[in-house]
Amino acid sequence: MKMLEKCPICGERKSENSPYCENHQLAYENLKKQYQYWREALQISWQEYLQRIIENKNTGQWAREVAKDLIEKQKTKNY
Ligand SMILES: [Zn+2]
Repeated sequence: MKMLEKCPICGERKSENSPYCENHQLAYENLKKQYQYWREALQISWQEYLQRIIENKNTGQWAREVAKDLIEKQKTKNY
């Protein structure tokens, strides 16, 4: 059975091989890239990093929405 073909954040159509639509997938990839620098510089966990992204006033809307979604997922999955 096929998964629902919608972005869980905005309800737009999903990109192929992505949990998100094009805009949110792009923001997600940027978050992952940026985290590599943060991790080296600050030794923070993925979760702490996401929290900071959300709290940062300079974070774009797409990135903030993705960060929130990722935090929610981690809460329920219990990594
Ligand atoms: Zn989206």
